[in-house]
Amino acid sequence: MICPRCLAEVTTVKKTIKSFKVIRFRKCPKCNYKWITEEKPASGRELAEYVKRFEEDGEDYGVRK
Ligand SMILES: [Zn+2]
Repeated sequence: MICPRCLAEVTTVKKTIKSFKVIRFRKCPKCNYKWITEEKPASGRELAEYVKRFEEDGEDYGVRK
């Protein structure tokens, strides 16, 4: 993931907590900025449209609509 402060393209994950959502503690080796990201199941109309296009290509992502 790109550093939100200095835009460096190479950053590191220091710790990951896996549950119903995944929390990652990240750090930029260039400017030492630390931040947290969250990964969770997604839904919503905009996303459903996006997934529809993937499904038309023969993929099934199982996203709620
Ligand atoms: Zn940075």
